[in-house]
Amino acid sequence: MTTELLLPSPEERSALWSELVAQAEAYFGDVESLPVAPTLNQADLQALLDTFSLDEPGSRIDVLHRFTRELKRHQVHTPHPCYFGLFNPAPAFMGILGDCITATLNPQLAAWSHSPLAVETERRMIHAFAGKFGLSQEHADGCLTSGGAEANLTALLCALTERWPGVLDSGVQSIAARPVFYASAESHHSFLKAARTAGLGRAALRTVPVTDELQMDSDALRRMIEEDRGLGYEPFLIIGTAGTTGAGVVDPLVAISEVARANRLWFHVDAAWGGAAVLVPELRAVLSGIETADSITFDPHKYLSIPMGAGMFLTRHRYALSRIFSVSTAYMPKEGERLAVVDPYVHSMQWSRRFIGLKLFLTLATTGWDGYARILRHQSEMGDLLRGRLTASGWSIVNRTKLPVVCFTPSDEEWDMAMHQRASDAVVESGSAWISTIMLGGKKPALRACITNYRTGPEHIETLLVVLSNVRDGLSTRTRR
Ligand SMILES: *Cc1c(COP(=O)(O)O)cnc(C)c1O
Repeated sequence: MTTELLLPSPEERSALWSELVAQAEAYFGDVESLPVAPTLNQADLQALLDTFSLDEPGSRIDVLHRFTRELKRHQVHTPHPCYFGLFNPAPAFMGILGDCITATLNPQLAAWSHSPLAVETERRMIHAFAGKFGLSQEHADGCLTSGGAEANLTALLCALTERWPGVLDSGVQSIAARPVFYASAESHHSFLKAARTAGLGRAALRTVPVTDELQMDSDALRRMIEEDRGLGYEPFLIIGTAGTTGAGVVDPLVAISEVARANRLWFHVDAAWGGAAVLVPELRAVLSGIETADSITFDPHKYLSIPMGAGMFLTRHRYALSRIFSVSTAYMPKEGERLAVVDPYVHSMQWSRRFIGLKLFLTLATTGWDGYARILRHQSEMGDLLRGRLTASGWSIVNRTKLPVVCFTPSDEEWDMAMHQRASDAVVESGSAWISTIMLGGKKPALRACITNYRTGPEHIETLLVVLSNVRDGLSTRTRR
């Protein structure tokens, strides 16, 4: 029998599950005692992989044990409470279980009829979040995506085909004028990839300058649109960012929305990370204007602490997605056609489709909107605490946002980017915390620390302050020497 090659006996399964649970539980307990970042040595990793022979396969328990143990030694521990990094949170426990169930039952969400409960669960999530963002739940539509990059590309395609439906059959070369779209200089680079992927090319993305506060300059936007029109270009889309990746800044969504409406352009809001603020009553106002968006990108795998691989695209235009993605095949199940349901495969870029929404649903159904508001409020308070402690310890905060992303620089010394980088490297090398550097507005270097973990508490902020202070002392003596 070959079955045993992929499915161990019940006894062995039981031992493997126990090993898995033991490793996972140990990680929850130990993660804080591990160095946040590994030492990097590619040759070591290749030698390590050589110990797993593909010609003479090892025992399951040994491979599982050794590989998991090694992975714990060779990654930046984004679940570490002193990881003040990019928006990679510690995963919510019910989300982890969701991924485990998804892998075990392996539902195929391409066709509604293959996994009706799973598809309905995802639709429930789409409508619930559309409602939270203020889109009409009745007309809103959307899909779960691999992440924000896929959602942003989807937005670009929706805007393009809303304006030029002919593109669907005849391609972008059928557009008489050259299409252009607008995003701020601080927007996410996924729009550059989207421009290339959609066949528009890099030059189609117009970079709108930002104000001193790093928000899109809506007057400049208005002027650029006029100028472009004068030169024979065809604007079709404006992107506002709600929570920039670098500095957590929210573009003036109301003003941008007005420009979009006046020029009859699609208005997309990239709220991949910052969108979660909509769940916190006292933060909601920072997203004001998002309810007027034609479409929204939101990533549950960022500020909602869902394990990686959970993005969301939302739109107020009910038929925008099916216009692009509907196709018919001889082999897909047809049961769905007799019901008033939407088959996900005619509704998004993906074909075979994983149950992305389960990890979000299980977490939300056991934490609730209120629970999430409390978690996000805590993270926001930790951001305020970090700002306060930095200011009191000789650092200046150089970004303005209510979200917990803190960009800072010494208050009594001018550091260039190289100095900031040296400081950031030293923090990372200490193993006690992880931060990064950022060039704000393309010209102002700073250190960047973001509260991204729901387990980060005041003691972890203190750890970061101690490390920063040591690093700074070290750097100053070295420079003086
Ligand atoms: C992270 C991020 C993205 C990209 O999302 P992925 O899920 O990483 O693909 C897009 N926009 C913003 C503002 C982001 O922060």
